Amino acid sequence: MYRTHNNGGLRAANIGETVTLSGWVQKSRDKGFMIWVDLRDRYGITQLIFDEERTPKDVMESARDLGREFVVQVTGEVIERESKNPKMPTGDIEILVKELKVLNSSRTPPFTIETETDGGEDLRMKYRYLDIRRNPVKEKLIFRHKVTIAVRNYLSEQGFIEVETPYLIKSTPEGARDFVVPSRMNEGQFYALPQSPQTFKQLLMVGGMDKYFQIVKCFRDEDLRADRQPEFTQIDCEMAFVEQEDILNVFEGLTKFLLKEINGVEINKFPRMTYDEAMARYGNDKPDIRFGMEFGELNEVAQHKGFNVFNNADLVVGIAIPGGAQYTRKEIDKLIDWVKRPQVGALGMVYVKCNEDGTYKSSVDKFYDDQDLAKWAEKTGAKPGDLICVLSGESQKTRAQLSALRMEMAERLGLRKADEFAPLWVVDFPLLEWDEETERYHAMHHPFTSPKPGQLEMLDSDPGAVKANAYDLVLNGNEIGGGSIRIFDSETQSTMFDHLGFTKEEAQAQFGFLMEAFKYGAPPHGGIAFGLDRLVAILGGQETIRDFIAFPKNNAGRDVMIDAPATIDDAQLKELNLKVTL
Ligand code: ASP
Repeated sequence: MYRTHNNGGLRAANIGETVTLSGWVQKSRDKGFMIWVDLRDRYGITQLIFDEERTPKDVMESARDLGREFVVQVTGEVIERESKNPKMPTGDIEILVKELKVLNSSRTPPFTIETETDGGEDLRMKYRYLDIRRNPVKEKLIFRHKVTIAVRNYLSEQGFIEVETPYLIKSTPEGARDFVVPSRMNEGQFYALPQSPQTFKQLLMVGGMDKYFQIVKCFRDEDLRADRQPEFTQIDCEMAFVEQEDILNVFEGLTKFLLKEINGVEINKFPRMTYDEAMARYGNDKPDIRFGMEFGELNEVAQHKGFNVFNNADLVVGIAIPGGAQYTRKEIDKLIDWVKRPQVGALGMVYVKCNEDGTYKSSVDKFYDDQDLAKWAEKTGAKPGDLICVLSGESQKTRAQLSALRMEMAERLGLRKADEFAPLWVVDFPLLEWDEETERYHAMHHPFTSPKPGQLEMLDSDPGAVKANAYDLVLNGNEIGGGSIRIFDSETQSTMFDHLGFTKEEAQAQFGFLMEAFKYGAPPHGGIAFGLDRLVAILGGQETIRDFIAFPKNNAGRDVMIDAPATIDDAQLKELNLKVTL
């Protein structure tokens, strides 16, 4: 038996007991006549004491040779500590060691394995298994487990059945690029890894499963933006005989349950906002509504003077930054530089200081008087002491730029509090989205999303205006879930593919199986998928998902620990009938 207890469990009540413990040597202090060792495992740390007078000589000797991260087993007596440590759950006791067995030695670890470490990100990723021994990483993995179990329990209680769907499927571009896998047995043919189990979950509805969920890996071969992973986990769900309202209710329930169960907070407000409203008020389809700084559209009150930058713009829009009137010229210049960075892309920024005495000082005083500026203040909700920041230009771009500024300022002002939760539904998304690159419309969600009732006809006359039965659940400025009510008859599905630029042959080749299935009594259905990694990170009060993934990939999509991806040898290539030319 390796242990009678773990390293987190012994208390004063155990004093006098003989126990056996196993674990890693976190550190040891050798005072000559006495040696103290901190013994660690997943459950905690217990202090061991080796005492010349009470510990056998040979045990004392081998204790002196213990290095950091050695794996040891000890047997000894639980005794009361002389100097207690109230910060440690086991701080009242220590183990007077009688027997010591080194189960394995260890090289000196490349970084300190303690809560605060000296290891940089790259080093910790290369030795991720050592990083996982550290409390903050270990705790995040345990936290993820708790969330996952809570999700499974809740959905199972609600009658959802977890069904596994295949990972080796057919390449059906759903928006992102597929990862492909060559088939050895079918020369020249490839599987793809699923971007999501979308079509399979719809087929499960045709199969009468009624309520499905799966905690499932998905794969997307995208250029990695910060904090994206090529493989990630979804809580994927689908329900039959439901309308949008039913889905929103069920998953509002799940989110409420998680916030209560995991964070102990009771949130009953899940406001709903249309996509158009979210864009107008926050310039963003996943607005963080924990703070104000809502957009004020200024076209009406700014396009009547000789300032041509505004006169020629589609949109003139501003936000009020609380307390910003006291910014120095230099600070404001820095802000202007910030919005002009290529990542944001504004050409410039107009600002108005709303002075405490009710007067205004702006960068466009030549064109606008206090009376004009008072109207800007009214539109943006600016109070005396605030700074109004105004951007202008093409509507969509300008909104995105101002939204970036809004989020940045909220971050700087400490308004994005990790322990405050403000969920909302964004509904009525456009069905289609114009893609500049390919110069055609794409499905904004995916091609299986149904248009709003009665809008199918508009696909010909005004495709950009057609709204979908699609919704996102947004939490603290992050999209944590998204889904839609699906098309469930093959004719409509086929019309949709036409509009998305598929030829009949392409649609048949890629999605024939789905349209065929729809001919055998497909029920009305809809669903949603949550991004588990992000959801866990947000509930954990953080925004980086990497820490909540046991073995994440870096920004270049590499696993630096196992060194993947890697080349394969010629024999493997030959077996697959593949040739690599570089
Ligand atoms: N499959 C969709 C996605 O991955 C979610 C859904 O529509 O249910 O975004």
